[in-house]
Amino acid sequence: MPRRPAFHRRVLDWFDVHGRHDLPWQASRDPYRVWVSEIMLQQTQVKTVIPYYQRFLQRFPDVHALANAEQDEVLHHWTGLGYYARARNLQKAAQVVRDEYAGEFPASLEDLAGLPGIGRSTAGSILAAAFGQRGIILDGNVKRVLARHRAVEGWPGKTAVHDALWEIAEELTPRERHADYNQAMMDLGATLCTRSSPRCGDCPVAADCVAREQGNPGAYPGKKPRKTMPVRNTRFFMARNPAGELWLEKRPAPGIWGGLWCFPEAGERDPAAWCLDVFGAEPGSIEAWHEFRHTFSHYHLDIQPVLLHVPAPAAAVMEADRQLWYNVRENPRIGLAAPVVDLLRQLATGSSPAAGTRKSPKAKE
Ligand code: SF4
Repeated sequence: MPRRPAFHRRVLDWFDVHGRHDLPWQASRDPYRVWVSEIMLQQTQVKTVIPYYQRFLQRFPDVHALANAEQDEVLHHWTGLGYYARARNLQKAAQVVRDEYAGEFPASLEDLAGLPGIGRSTAGSILAAAFGQRGIILDGNVKRVLARHRAVEGWPGKTAVHDALWEIAEELTPRERHADYNQAMMDLGATLCTRSSPRCGDCPVAADCVAREQGNPGAYPGKKPRKTMPVRNTRFFMARNPAGELWLEKRPAPGIWGGLWCFPEAGERDPAAWCLDVFGAEPGSIEAWHEFRHTFSHYHLDIQPVLLHVPAPAAAVMEADRQLWYNVRENPRIGLAAPVVDLLRQLATGSSPAAGTRKSPKAKE
């Protein structure tokens, strides 16, 4: 019987025919561009990332442009992509590369993994794609393929399972075509070995896939143990002045939405008293909107927006850099928290008060 080709050979042969070869970040081996794409692709799908990546690179074409930019502008270009810690770390890492590596990305696993926001898998991917070294990756797609192929039981968040998957990844990664192999494994996970409906019939490694043999790919990788998420409550005071501008405040970092602009959270305060304190005048009207839920990775936040029509002159109470009157038509270059983007859209279209209880899609920030 003819010998079965090696795992990586089958994966690469499949990739040559069926893989994705025209993604914008594949056109360059520039470590900066590779790194930006890697960070954007953490927790976000390729098709969502592409326009963000292109706009980001247009505005911040190299590591110096990013390192020297205002954080507000970096967050502005990240608004809508979620997981904003990625953007804050991206800029911090750019500053480290500028200050400690003379603007050149380091070409070692240890140095790359020492930069803010770069873990072992991302460092491996950059090593392979930008420096042609044998960088090994283990992102969510690769974990799923390997866990199924070798029937590795348990949730990959557990150290023992995670270590077992790293060992398999080390063993299977070839000594040639590292970047192609890494991309091939991600493509395999994203397009064939999908979470809910793997297409084993088209899979190049089906012949020795244990989960397929067992007839239960869906059992791998093991699920995260379920925990009931706590629910917190807050109110957003949406103060609107006679010019139609909305009052926003910059969130302190660290903390949720750190560095992003948001409606003030007012806890249990009386809206009229808050308005009097901040603007020196009582609101002309107060409208309580329906509550909606924003879900973070570790808790739900139930938000009740309250719209206040304030007669205040715009500049009277402004604290430089931390508060502003937001004009939707001017679209200032600042980062906005995801629920604020939704609410501003509703305020602009006048579509909200009767909208009912609304659930936001799951997001971390
Ligand atoms: S055979 Fe099926 S379960 Fe196994 S790796 Fe391929 S697509 Fe995934």
